[in-house]
Parts: sequence; C-alpha cells; structure tokens
Amino acid sequence: MALIVQKFGGTSVKNAERLKNVASIIIDEYKKGSKVVAVVSAQGDTTDDLIEKAREINSDPSKREMDQLMTAGEQISAALLAMTIEGMGCPAVSLLGWQAGFETNTAYGSARIKRIDTRRVERELERGGIVVVTGFQGKNRYDDMTTLGRGGSDTSAVALAAALGADRCQIYTDVDGVYTADPRKVPQAKKLSVISYDEMLELASLGAQVLNNRSVEMAKKYNVELEVLSSLERLPGTVVKEVSEVEKLLVSGVTKDCSVAKIAIIGVKDTPGTAFKIFNAIAAKKVVVDVILQSIGRDGTKDIAFTVAASDADAALEAVKTLPDIADKKIECETDIAKVSVVGAGMESHQGIASKVFEALYDENINIRMISTSEIKISVIIDRDRADDAVRAIHDKFEPYE
Ligand code: ADP
Ligand code: ASP
Ligand code: MG
Repeated sequence: MALIVQKFGGTSVKNAERLKNVASIIIDEYKKGSKVVAVVSAQGDTTDDLIEKAREINSDPSKREMDQLMTAGEQISAALLAMTIEGMGCPAVSLLGWQAGFETNTAYGSARIKRIDTRRVERELERGGIVVVTGFQGKNRYDDMTTLGRGGSDTSAVALAAALGADRCQIYTDVDGVYTADPRKVPQAKKLSVISYDEMLELASLGAQVLNNRSVEMAKKYNVELEVLSSLERLPGTVVKEVSEVEKLLVSGVTKDCSVAKIAIIGVKDTPGTAFKIFNAIAAKKVVVDVILQSIGRDGTKDIAFTVAASDADAALEAVKTLPDIADKKIECETDIAKVSVVGAGMESHQGIASKVFEALYDENINIRMISTSEIKISVIIDRDRADDAVRAIHDKFEPYE
C-alpha cells in the first residue's frame, strides 16, 4: 500500500470551495488504496493578516508570542480540511505540529526540525483514516510552539515524507509546476518537466517562491523526489530530483530577490585584516553576507561593499559602526536594489553565458551594480525598479528552453 504525502499551500485551501477541491484530490488518492497524509498551510493571506494584527498592537512583539499567534493559521485550515473530508464521507483526523511529532530547536520564527516522532501519524494511518497535519510548525524543548520561517509548510511536508519513508511527496500549489521564470511575471516562461535538486535549491534561495529553499535542501539530503503541481488543474507537474548529465539544461530559470540591502564602506585602510574585522563583526550578529565587492586599493585606501537580506541591514550596520577603524568612515546603505539571477546546471560546461546575461541587460540599458557567480548561477545586483525588466530580458535571451 503506497504512502503519499500531499502538501497544499494557502491559495489551494483559501475557502470552502477550494477546501472541497483539495479534499477531492486527497480522497481520489485514498480510494486508490493509498495511505494519505496531507500537510496544509494557513488559508489565503491568514499568516500576513496575523502578522499585521500583531503589529497594530505592538511594533516589536516577542518572537515566542508571534509563533503562538502564527501557528493558529495552520490549525484553522487543518481542522477545516479534516471536516471537509469527513463531510465527503471519508475518515480524517487533523494533527497540530506537536501532535504529529515535529520537534524543533528553539529559534522562534525560523526553527529547524530536529526530529519527527512519527508514531502518532502512523497509528492514525493504521486506523485507516486520512491524516491532515499543520505545516510550518513544531514544538521545542520548552514545549512551546515554533514556526519554521515563511513558506515553511513545504519543509514540513518534505520532512514528514522523509521520516515516514513515503513513496511520493507532492507539493500542490497555484501554478502547475516550476517554470523558467515566475509565470505571473514572464508569460513566455516554460514549464520544466524535471529540475535537479541543485538547480531548484539555487532558484528557491534566489527568490523563486514556488518551493521553500529549506524544503529542497531537505529533499536532496534525504533523497525525497518531489512533484510540484497545481491543485486546480489536473496536469503533470515538475519533478525535482537528482538529474543525470544528459537531462541538464543550459539555463533552467531566471529569478529575482527584492529583499536585498547593499552596504558600502568607503575609504577603509588597504591593509591586511580589514575585511576580516568587518565580516567578523557581522558574523557575530549572525547575519549572512551574500555578494562582496572590494575596490582596487588607491593611496592606501579601498572601498568594501556587500549585500545582506534587507531584514538584516540594521544589524549589519550596527556591527560595522561599532568597529574602531570603520566607524569614522563613510558608510552607505541602499535598499532600493534587487538581485536577479540565472541558474542552470549546464553553465558549468559552457562558456559565453555571462556575456549573454550582460548583453540582455545592456539592451535594456540596465546598469549592473555588483556581480557574483557560482558553478551553476550568475547573479547581478541592479536597481529594484528594473528587476522585472531584467528578468524578462535575460529570460528572452536564453529562449528556447529545451
Ligand atoms: P503556496 O501558497 O502554494 O505555497 P507560493 O505562493 O508560496 O504557493 O508559491 C507559488 C508561487 O510562486 C506562484 O504563484 C508563482 O507566482 C511563484 N513563482 C515564482 N517563481 C516561480 C517559478 N520559477 N515557477 C513557478 N512559480 C514561481
Ligand atoms: N503560512 C505560512 C506562511 O505564509 C507557511 C506556508 O505557507 O508555507 O509563510
Ligand atoms: Mg509557499
């Protein structure tokens, strides 16, 4: 008997009609004789609405209370989905993260799953019911509820599939697969039938929201093959898996991340240890630095610029401003920028990709502020108001995607 984990995102469960639609997908699988575990997100914009409600009351609420609040969103959708399934004549039970055995570390708001005690879920499956589990949440060692970070229900589903040794893990969403660019922004984007874990991980980390990056990391680690597909249209989706050489595309996607900040320190000493002092202070604040640019030294000084997530900009600024040799230097912080990235496993063995990216930006008269590359991606930092134009222009340059 096959065991299937199916995850449904916020738009897929946003109202009664959508819940019935999701219940029918689950029941179809159940009636084929499979054991089905459904992992659900909060309905529609519930999580954003809860955050907004908190901010109206307290501009800086504690992370623990935020998690107490935000976990409620998934509780509502899980209970409603279980009732919908019952109403359609099949047995179902909903479980909160802790009831389903999700144990996490104590990092409220961005907790990591440490282990899943699957006994309760397995017991419910043995009883013959459909099990509905709240995504995005777990319990820490203080018996407090924690959340896994925005978009974390994908991670819940993959982790549960790995822990249960599921035969399939399906991620149902509001698009019918992973595209070469966000299909809502680039209408010519093409659906990929297959994408490798490494490419998907880069795309997800660089802004393609369709899968949460931690979920892809986990899928790769535990070798869980994922299928991303639409909850609204019954079409084949995109399979995320280990991909062989011959299946590799030159470019598999173009994406943007607008939550980026650039910090530049002008005229620091051109001596050994300067970069170490700066980035050591930033690391002490647990801030992840992304692109780093250092100018050529001139007259004993140089400039160092780097990017961080926009939400970390204040912490990074605070860190550098406390450094004795740096505090008196000119420090600039820009937040009206975006990172546009091109990802493709085939890049490793082809030349000329970077020049095509730069040509596409030149054609659109878009200035490149910073560049960073890895074996399978090229990222550029540009003005935020040109990010969509840049994605489209670069995407056009690499057509066709075959
Ligand atoms: P869910 O609520 O189901 O988790 P999300 O909103 O988190 O769904 O993710 C789905 C969205 O991701 C789509 O509506 C789409 O606009 C966006 N998206 C961004 N990049 C891509 C891409 N490359 N392929 C498919 N969808 C993408
Ligand atoms: N409801 C959570 C969020 O909006 C988790 C998720 O949807 O995956 O981020
Ligand atoms: Mg999501």
